[in-house]
Amino acid sequence: MALTGLQIFKLLPKTNCKDCGKPTCLAFAMALASKKASLDECPHVSDEGKAALEGASAPPMKTITVGTGEAAFEIGGETVMFRHDEKFYRPTAVAVVLGDDLDEAARAERLKAIEALQFERVGQEIAVDAVAVRNVSGDAGTFAAAAEHVAGNTSLAVILSSESVDALKAAVEKCADKKPLICEATAETVDDLAALAKDKGCPLAVGAATPEELADLTEKAKAAGCEDLILHPRGETTLDTLRTLSANRQVALRKGFRPLGFPQIVDATADDPADQSVFASSCVAKYAGIVVIDTVEPAYVLPILTTRMNIYTDPQKPVQVEPKLYEVGEVTNQSPVMFTTNFSLTYFTVQSDVEASRIPTYILAVDTEGTSVLTAYSGDKLNEKVVAKAMKDADLESKVSHKKIIIPGAVAVMSGALEEESGWEVMVGPRESAVIPKFLQTMWSA
Ligand code: SF4
Repeated sequence: MALTGLQIFKLLPKTNCKDCGKPTCLAFAMALASKKASLDECPHVSDEGKAALEGASAPPMKTITVGTGEAAFEIGGETVMFRHDEKFYRPTAVAVVLGDDLDEAARAERLKAIEALQFERVGQEIAVDAVAVRNVSGDAGTFAAAAEHVAGNTSLAVILSSESVDALKAAVEKCADKKPLICEATAETVDDLAALAKDKGCPLAVGAATPEELADLTEKAKAAGCEDLILHPRGETTLDTLRTLSANRQVALRKGFRPLGFPQIVDATADDPADQSVFASSCVAKYAGIVVIDTVEPAYVLPILTTRMNIYTDPQKPVQVEPKLYEVGEVTNQSPVMFTTNFSLTYFTVQSDVEASRIPTYILAVDTEGTSVLTAYSGDKLNEKVVAKAMKDADLESKVSHKKIIIPGAVAVMSGALEEESGWEVMVGPRESAVIPKFLQTMWSA
């Protein structure tokens, strides 16, 4: 549990020497309690005090790294239940299953399909993070060979998934340098697998149906020297799993219960790829650190990655594009000019509808601090003065030979004022971006 300022104060030297930059030890203690200072700013705290304070100030959920180098991803380390309190920092990793029962050609084909799960959305690259090699064959040698092949041929992190200790030992031996996630220890195997994970420096997942059993497993693994742990709540139904994901996080963050203070992994595989897409997306929203799927159909993977992107952005900082003049297609001095805001979702929606029109167009993304057209207008971040200045800064008069600007239909009310402010003729565009192609094709003429 976090200590109060007064509890921290009792562990400080109480000399008020000011070396930490604070006027008194009490002021430093208060700053430390509210996470506005760090313990190493006091050079005089005793070893005993340091040990007590470091233990108390450790984050309630451990950050775990899976993989090495560019393939590595971090999960956990979160401190809040709700993203309006503070943003979530470490996005859920998405892992795709590769069974060890595939022959070499099919395995290479499957790996290629997994690696191809990369998309661009609102100007950002999104992709899956790991290959989960699954011991479908039940044979240790086959599993080890598949693990070796995958580890040697993927740019993604590796998860090794088997119920057999021998199979996991054989597979880890082939790719320990990639720091794969060993998945997973149960009450029967936790001693052996914790020893393996500690020896090879790999993270270990522990799986059980209830929070009590999970806590018991993490305590046993920690006692065996394995600290990098991931919880696998094995619910009988999807609802069970979602409830346990939330309950574990709540107990870890709000009660400071260290045995459950780890990120969580969920097996979202199902016969119907649509079901797994929905379940995995729900788990992304409800605190999973890793979701495992077995579909490689882009249509089912993209919604999971999109959900992750939405959940792991800072709700107080809208995703923005650079405010500037964009050229869509081979523009000329006769091309239409339209403006929108620099909110990414708005900009890319407009851009794709302009592309669909096949009419090369200039789009002026006006700086509204990443807010949408109506939000910016109602907050007075978008008015005739702001737009006229953006037009001037973009030097529109040197780009086109006409003086017509198309404005979003949602702010038609500013047309008169903008004409006066800019000296340009204003054409009121459609309220809905989807109508832009028809509008440009039928209404535009320089
Ligand atoms: Fe107190 Fe340490 Fe700050 Fe000195 S440096 S005032 S001892 S907290």
